[in-house]
Amino acid sequence: MVKAIVGANWGDEGKGKITDVLAAQSDIVIRFQGGANAGHTIINDYGRFALHILPSGSFYSHVTNIIGNGVALDARKLVNELKSITDQGVPAPNLMVSERAQILMPYHILQDAYEEERLAGKSFGSTKSGIAPFYSDKYAKTGIQVCDLYDDERLKERLTRAVEMKNVLFEHLYHKPKLNVDELYAELLELREIIRPYVGDTVSFVHNALKNGKKVLLEGQLGSMKDPELGICPMTTSSHTLAGFGTIGACVPPTSIEDVICVTKAYSSCVGSATEPFVSELLGEEGDELRRRGGDKGEFGATTGRPRRVGWFDAVATKYGCAVQGATQVALTCLDVLSYMDEIKVCTGYLIDGEETDVFPVPCKLNNAKPVFTTLPGWKTDIRGIKNYADLPENCRRYVEFIESRIDAPITMVSNGPGRDALIYR
Ligand code: GDP
Repeated sequence: MVKAIVGANWGDEGKGKITDVLAAQSDIVIRFQGGANAGHTIINDYGRFALHILPSGSFYSHVTNIIGNGVALDARKLVNELKSITDQGVPAPNLMVSERAQILMPYHILQDAYEEERLAGKSFGSTKSGIAPFYSDKYAKTGIQVCDLYDDERLKERLTRAVEMKNVLFEHLYHKPKLNVDELYAELLELREIIRPYVGDTVSFVHNALKNGKKVLLEGQLGSMKDPELGICPMTTSSHTLAGFGTIGACVPPTSIEDVICVTKAYSSCVGSATEPFVSELLGEEGDELRRRGGDKGEFGATTGRPRRVGWFDAVATKYGCAVQGATQVALTCLDVLSYMDEIKVCTGYLIDGEETDVFPVPCKLNNAKPVFTTLPGWKTDIRGIKNYADLPENCRRYVEFIESRIDAPITMVSNGPGRDALIYR
């Protein structure tokens, strides 16, 4: 059976922690989309880690960790990350890379940076990891698959064709140096040896595992708001962040996904461009304080270090975010962070052109949306270390239950600290 762990919002909801916990009872953890452009923070017995490309099951020796075909494979970052965790004392994870995954090329990273420079103030807040050019090339069928690396003739031909197109852009649109095919080819030959031990037929592997009753976890990156179809277009990422895409990016049968755990934070955070609509944003000193106290080390991007914008819990966006994910259950994280507040607001509606709604609108209407808040009393007690839901302060439980009543999905897990053991099951 397959479980998916995905984000209901803008990413950074704490999926890494939930995956790290649930991987204990899983056989396989699969990354099915995205690349090394976002980080998953994990705090466990080995230390604190920000994983960017390795699946979050990497800390268990019984788990096979798979980079699915839907991932943008930055092979250098993958091997560097492997080295960095083993250097910190983690036993080498069981890792498998899909032979059908495509390679994120150095020119994707360059193109991403050049395009951001060209767009200047009107950019989409890219992390400049090459993700948008990578997926554009994939769908334009000019990408290079891992399996191509082991077929010299095909590799040279596909690379040459891709570079021809890139060079037109690089020279004439961006006014930057042209790419050299031979240098890129030599680099790919080196990379193919580095990743050779991990490359395999993950499609057969996963299908056989499912036939044999193994437990599979799909690990999503970013969240519903960043999905290119159903998110806040164009402020999205370029791969599908929804559990449904696991059927493609990890190639699990659609009928095998029995459980979709949507992760959402007890407040909102959003990393990306300042021009992105973020209706329940908390600005000024109050926002600074929440940013400082948020997450395990403040709300700063795990990959980029960029300060995240923070806001009140947005029930309108989260209800939609859970719906498009097909959430069967919800994990509410970072509840402990709010313990300092006298009162806590929840965004329960949007006012758009004078009308209040709790239906998440299309992106072009979001800029005009004003938040409508419901204020709840805080609990003003440290809740870290509490193990049972019933032992949480009453106002804290009221907060959880109020959110639950607004998002149309059951909150089955409440996270009250960044570590593995700080998880309360309801
Ligand atoms: P992901 O990309 O969804 O895995 O999320 P990130 O790792 O980017 O961001 C989540 C942040 O919240 C990290 O700093 C985590 O260590 C932290 N975190 C996760 N759960 C909790 C929690 O319950 N309480 C606190 N204080 N921090 C948490």
